Amino acid sequence: MHSKVTLTKWMVAVGAVAISPSVMALDIFVCEPEWKAFLSAHAPDASIYSATTAKQDPHYVQARPSLIAKMRQADIAMCSGADLEIGWLPMLQARSSNAAIQNGALSMIYASDYVRMLDTHDHVDRSHGDIHEHGNPHVQFAANDMIPLSFVVSKRLQMLDPSNGQTYQLHGMKFRAHWRNKLNEWQEKAAPLKGTQVVGYHATYRYLYEWLGMEQVADLEPKPGISPTTSHLQSLSKLDEDAFDVIVYSSHQDRRPANWLQQRTGKHVVELPLTVSDGEGLDQLYDKVIDDLLSTLISSAEKD
Ligand SMILES: [Zn+2]
Repeated sequence: MHSKVTLTKWMVAVGAVAISPSVMALDIFVCEPEWKAFLSAHAPDASIYSATTAKQDPHYVQARPSLIAKMRQADIAMCSGADLEIGWLPMLQARSSNAAIQNGALSMIYASDYVRMLDTHDHVDRSHGDIHEHGNPHVQFAANDMIPLSFVVSKRLQMLDPSNGQTYQLHGMKFRAHWRNKLNEWQEKAAPLKGTQVVGYHATYRYLYEWLGMEQVADLEPKPGISPTTSHLQSLSKLDEDAFDVIVYSSHQDRRPANWLQQRTGKHVVELPLTVSDGEGLDQLYDKVIDDLLSTLISSAEKD
């Protein structure tokens, strides 16, 4: 039988020789907090840094030196892609001079490459606020596509860090089993939301609405971050009372146009999170969004 002392000495010895990249935690850079949550579930030991917070608009980010430094040291990066980060990510990639996070590298993962994209079109009319040439990049709510995305991410982690391959495989399986259960739970819970018509901002929740059978019938702020014109707002206030049920905006968006429309129509306004809060899992974001929509719908119904 080993004595405790011998075992400790043995562990110290192994630790001392094993100074190789394989025992170091992976350094991961993500563009948005939802991918930090997603990757934390797949690689719990990794050190993950998110370029943006839940309060920031991911279309517009300053490519500041601290971000370049974080990108320089990353082993893996994950972003939404489909041009969501076109205004800042390419500059970070170029300035970091890190081969691991250049486009085409296995360690540069774009979520939208593995999602069934909505709103892809050949012709882009930017005058209508349509800034997404390659389809809607707000894929954090592409609920069903998180399963294929999980397979891809698990595989990549195993390839890039084979010494921990088994750990990644197990955590990937765990994530997918849990997600499948949650998908069933959400489908059932969110059934009353089916057919709900919303006035929203931009196309932030396009995937969520598609998934839950909801519809965004009008846009308060078609171009992200650009205040709507008065004539645009006036046209919305002329919407028929039955034309929509609720006004939705996201935590990083300007509430004032939503309030303005509320005053003229008497409809309820709900603020939804755009992404996870720090330390939250992606499933908790979905829980919150569905709960918030349901409670708003209930209070709207009580008022009527
Ligand atoms: Zn967008």
